[in-house]
Amino acid sequence: CGIFGLYAPELEVSRLTYYGLYALQHRGQESAGIAVSDGRNIDLHKGMGLVSEVFSDRIMSQTGGKMAIGHVRYSTTGSSLLANAQPLVVHYQNGMMALAHNGNLTNAAELREELSKDGAVFQTTVDSEVIINLIARYRRGCLEDAVTKTMMDLQGAYALVILAEDKVLGVRDPYGVRPLCIGQLGERYILTSESCALDSIGARLVRDVEPGEIVTIDEQGLHSRPGLTSPRKAGCAFEYIYFARPDSTIDKINVSEARRRMGQELAAECPIRADIVIPVPDSGRAAALGYSHALGIPFEEGLIKNRYIGRTFIQPTQEMREIAVHLKLNANASVIRGKRVVMIDDSIVRGTTSSRLVGILRGAGAEEVHLLISSPPVLYPCYYGIDTAEREKLIAAQLDLEGIRAYVGADSLHYLSQEGLKRALGEEPVCLACFNGDYPIEIPANKGKYDFE
Ligand code: SF4
Ligand code: MG
Repeated sequence: CGIFGLYAPELEVSRLTYYGLYALQHRGQESAGIAVSDGRNIDLHKGMGLVSEVFSDRIMSQTGGKMAIGHVRYSTTGSSLLANAQPLVVHYQNGMMALAHNGNLTNAAELREELSKDGAVFQTTVDSEVIINLIARYRRGCLEDAVTKTMMDLQGAYALVILAEDKVLGVRDPYGVRPLCIGQLGERYILTSESCALDSIGARLVRDVEPGEIVTIDEQGLHSRPGLTSPRKAGCAFEYIYFARPDSTIDKINVSEARRRMGQELAAECPIRADIVIPVPDSGRAAALGYSHALGIPFEEGLIKNRYIGRTFIQPTQEMREIAVHLKLNANASVIRGKRVVMIDDSIVRGTTSSRLVGILRGAGAEEVHLLISSPPVLYPCYYGIDTAEREKLIAAQLDLEGIRAYVGADSLHYLSQEGLKRALGEEPVCLACFNGDYPIEIPANKGKYDFE
């Protein structure tokens, strides 16, 4: 998911949030929502579909808001339903509050059960609702104290923006799994998942929210306090590999540069004798450029992407996903015919994309097709908010390297090693659990991937 929030009474906050969400669209395409506050009431508008489908110009030109938060959703817990769209809004003893969440709690089922025993009612099936419930319960004096108490109960990955009476809060879990950064526009501050959303509204990146930090933006500007101390930093490596937009910088690492380095590492690990290097657009492009430059093999656009189709992966059912792969990419035969081709993609999850694409390249007359992947094999499911599927559906968890190669039909198949990935990402420790099973945060005891519903 993608989240955005700003405090700026003199600006058109709903329109700026809309532009911000537009820039975060790649983080979720199922639903979008914006909550705007005038300091007393919160107006909520949310709907299913893309940002461009959900908001009309009439809604956007609504004036009078002092602050706003927004959300684009891709579901990891809770089905794709309007009730589960965010922001979530509640009325409670202190007035109204809205919350938008990116990430996934690992103890949501337990928390929900405890709260339910205590009489709480839930209107959605998303884990985020327990967060807003806890904050409302703990609220006596200041909101930040209630958020700190809530953080002590939460386990898992969460980046939050919270809209209250006279301020917007940004919160990042103590491991910093999901990204959240601070931007500045004139005198005003913004909180958002990725810095590309700041560029889209002409704001500048100030810094990342630190793991465990609570940031407040209000009339006085920007304030910070430690919420929970960080036991271990574990930003999600998959943000760099696939999820984030290449023009974003997360935890001081530029995504596009990181992807290029992954391509260079791949070149060092497996230089292939080939005529051309082609990316699987768009997510494989930067790595393919890194590989091409490192070895001096020409980079070509051998696959053309239909721009009007969203990310295949994000279509919730397998059947829909397969149809989407067929619609999405076509070979540029004039580039491919008679060539020994290195095709670079960022990851293999189920194997659907790769096997289809190898077939397309052969159909277009490729002499050889070598598939290179700029991340290690995905062997374990993610419990922290990226939908990399259950273990049974992960092809690398089911087949060995040769089995996968045969399945996708390539002449050869190579993955980037974990060491190569770490070198590409630099010093900061990151989460690599979907590659090595070393989960930084305890995962749900009951083995079903997701707990309630
Ligand atoms: Fe990211 Fe993988 Fe860790 Fe999930 S398990 S947070 S996808 S690195
Ligand atoms: Mg891709």
